[in-house]
Amino acid sequence: MKCMHCQGTMVKGVAPFHIDKKGYHLTLDEVPAWICQQCGEFYFDEPQVDSIQEIIRKLEDGTERLSDVA
Ligand SMILES: [Zn+2]
Repeated sequence: MKCMHCQGTMVKGVAPFHIDKKGYHLTLDEVPAWICQQCGEFYFDEPQVDSIQEIIRKLEDGTERLSDVA
């Protein structure tokens, strides 16, 4: 697997994931990822992307319910 930016070698490691949304901010410290040894760019594999999307979905559900004061 090669880096899309610099064609450097990608190695397995962990990388942080952070997202700012309206109403919440999500930071995951250590997500398994492919990290470029040359430029530091990182990519998440599909299972990790799925997990992150699942977490975001649950967060959005939760924050929606939380703000539902009716
Ligand atoms: Zn790179």
